Amino acid sequence: MSALVHDLVVVGAGITGLSVAWRARRAGRSVLLLEASPRVGGVIRTERVGGYRVERAAATFPSSATALLELASSLPTPPTVRTPPPEANGQWLWTNRGLLALPRTPPALLRSPFLPFRGKVRLFAELLRGPRRVRTPESAYGFVRRRFGRDVAERLLRPMTLGIYGTRPEDLGLADAFPMLADMERASGSLLRGFAKRKGGGGKRTILVFEDGMEALPRAVAAALGDAVRVSTPVVRVSKEGELLRVATSSGDPHLARRVVLATTAGEQARLVEPFSTAAAETLSTVAYVPMVVVAVGLPPGGAPPLPKGFGFLRGAGAKGRVLGASFPSCWNPAVAPAGHELVTVFAGGGADPAAADLSDDEVARVVERDLATALGGPVRPDLVSICRWPRAIPVLSPGHRARMASAQALLSRHGLVLSGSHLTGVGVHACAAAAV
Ligand SMILES: Cc1cc2nc3c(=O)[nH]c(=O)nc-3n(C[C@H](O)[C@H](O)[C@H](O)COP(=O)(O)OP(=O)(O)OC[C@H]3O[C@@H](n4cnc5c(N)ncnc54)[C@H](O)[C@@H]3O)c2cc1C
Repeated sequence: MSALVHDLVVVGAGITGLSVAWRARRAGRSVLLLEASPRVGGVIRTERVGGYRVERAAATFPSSATALLELASSLPTPPTVRTPPPEANGQWLWTNRGLLALPRTPPALLRSPFLPFRGKVRLFAELLRGPRRVRTPESAYGFVRRRFGRDVAERLLRPMTLGIYGTRPEDLGLADAFPMLADMERASGSLLRGFAKRKGGGGKRTILVFEDGMEALPRAVAAALGDAVRVSTPVVRVSKEGELLRVATSSGDPHLARRVVLATTAGEQARLVEPFSTAAAETLSTVAYVPMVVVAVGLPPGGAPPLPKGFGFLRGAGAKGRVLGASFPSCWNPAVAPAGHELVTVFAGGGADPAAADLSDDEVARVVERDLATALGGPVRPDLVSICRWPRAIPVLSPGHRARMASAQALLSRHGLVLSGSHLTGVGVHACAAAAV
């Protein structure tokens, strides 16, 4: 009996695999998407807990995410995009003086207390520094220190990469995690000049959310793909069958495909590509992921000092605390909390404090309540503390990562295997949602 041959089998129905599968379907190719768990979305999870609607991982995306917005609007039932109020875009920095608004422009930074005088002088001296050839690959820390000085690297970059990537800036490659900055230095000579040019050219970048939560996007893509999506179907092995690829699952008959896209974490890809290339498998197995603990904290009326309006806060250098930062989802969309309540999402763990991921639930709750009380400046009495742990939350795009991934891909292309996932596309949902083959 001859089995049906698919143009494409995609392994993993996180937002990357879903985006690849939907774009291939729209291009007229026959597609099958196989997902190990009983649900689609991967780390994107929106859940109702104790009257709140909480996000377990990604919650927002930038208004510049054109590929994600195009993906959403191409669906038969697109999820509704919500534009939060303008004040939801402000970021706070938790310092030893409490929460201070993070300046959004270089002139505002000049007037702010974040940098000492020498740091401000050094920041603006960046305009005079031309691009320099450096020993590649350069870390994000090395780059920012080289261009703007140590104060900017320690006081602004470090809280940002810890709070957003869960990683120290020394561990991130500039061209790997922030390719735009590397390009800007090449094109404009100075980053300050580059940013000024960009501001003149485009509208202001703001955050966007989906009205029904982030999971509305993967669910809508899966609905559009219909029975091309099979959940609870882990792929156990991929092998060659003549010119085709044979995809074996733990349930039912194998599937045949002309090409297979692996949209899983790098460790799982290493296991699946091993029969094709041990070198590619070894390269993939070196990709590290940081663990994260994400804690949804519900605050009843009077349960905490008033939350400042904004996106959230990052823990700055002087703050005495353990959490990496927090976001304020009820500021972006009040519907996520019961009337009069607020919802805060707190992040802990990451590459600088992986032990936080091993704390007991009681210890996590204690750390979160203590740090929130210190940051907000008064006692915190939540009516919800809901903990989600991600042992492999975010890939570390270390110096040279992109080149290593390209070399792994080169070893696999002739077999019809394509690597995808956030360690290839970039970690933001907007980057994953741009994935296509
Ligand atoms: C705590 C946290 C907060 C974040 N916050 C933001 C944010 O605010 N904004 C933002 O833009 N991004 C954010 N991100 C990043 C973003 O959510 C992720 O980078 C993105 O969702 C990853 O999608 P993915 O499809 O590449 O991988 P995943 O979501 O990991 O999906 C991979 C899928 O493959 C499946 N799979 C694995 N092995 C197999 C197999 N053998 N067979 C079949 N299926 C398999 C898995 O079950 C999973 O469903 C956050 C991430 C985390 C962890």
